[in-house]
Amino acid sequence: MAKRDYYEVLGVSKTAGEQEIKQAYRKLALKYHPDKNKNNPESEEKFKEATEAYEVLRDPKKRASYDKYGHDGVQGFENFGRGAYTDFSDIFGDLDLGDIFEGFFGSSFGNKSRSKRARRGADLQYDLSITLEEAATGSEVHIDIPRSETCETCGGTGSSSKTKPAVCPVCNGMGQVRQTQGFFSITQTCPKCRGEGKIITSPCKVCNGSGLTRKKRTITVKIPAGVESGSRLKIAGEGEQAPNDGLTGDLYVVIHVKKHDFFDRHGNDILSLIDVPFPTVCLGGEIEVPTITGARVKMKIPPGTENGQMFRLKGHGIPYLGSYGKGDQLVKVNISVPKKLTSRQKELLKEFAKISGDEDSLSEFY
Ligand SMILES: [Zn+2]
Ligand SMILES: [Zn+2]
Repeated sequence: MAKRDYYEVLGVSKTAGEQEIKQAYRKLALKYHPDKNKNNPESEEKFKEATEAYEVLRDPKKRASYDKYGHDGVQGFENFGRGAYTDFSDIFGDLDLGDIFEGFFGSSFGNKSRSKRARRGADLQYDLSITLEEAATGSEVHIDIPRSETCETCGGTGSSSKTKPAVCPVCNGMGQVRQTQGFFSITQTCPKCRGEGKIITSPCKVCNGSGLTRKKRTITVKIPAGVESGSRLKIAGEGEQAPNDGLTGDLYVVIHVKKHDFFDRHGNDILSLIDVPFPTVCLGGEIEVPTITGARVKMKIPPGTENGQMFRLKGHGIPYLGSYGKGDQLVKVNISVPKKLTSRQKELLKEFAKISGDEDSLSEFY
């Protein structure tokens, strides 16, 4: 199948500016990204196509070459078509990039073909379930994260202690090779050492030359009061480590708040249904209401309160995340109707009905 024109792929004109190209790609990447379209080869293909187009058009040099020579003009560029950008954060803002690219490029954030300077360990994501109480008051939890860490045996070099890595004979340690193709010469990542500039002759036995080992790490996560399902906490530097002292990725903890039996969360307000005895709603009184912090709060019931009537306990809701103040607790009255009556209770109710003139509506069984 013939390759589509890159401008056509992104749906932009040939004169489109940098910002326009970026926006067009962002839209497509979000639409087709593999995490949203599991087992959908068609959208995966679309995602790849858009990524490839963006990779070329975002780079003025590659773009110029593409404009001049078409697809042939960009074939030899370094890292081409491998999703090896330097920085995605300007494209995706606060989106979890680890998510987007994990399933697609594998651990491409630690991709070996990238230059040493830009190399970075993969971001990790951890899904954490917490109770509504924990979301309301904040808490501290310890989680175990399996991740790649620098191999202690070789110090991350991947080379066994007796030997030092040899200088790559192909690139003489430069990590890059220059090739002349057609009209112009291009610099490529050295295929022999993959840009490392050196070759491991005797790999470390512990990490098999990768420079990394899997380790479980216990991390303390401070959950701020007010989080909700979907809140993402970024813990910088707790993601995967990259080999050879590269940058460490970040850990993202995604919060899932469990459903509560008694309390229902609506934004920062808490909704609760509370049983109030029949005489209390008639005569008025005071009841105790459980709140999300565990404290019980006294609440006045005015005489003649209806079933379903709502009362507001100010400031007994969920704190505003990263701000001051709290929502309220809304208390909905559920009049509890006595089911099992003694003969004395029946007698009194009958009397009550008689005085109220409701006697005729009573069942003859009484
Ligand atoms: Zn090692
Ligand atoms: Zn080399």
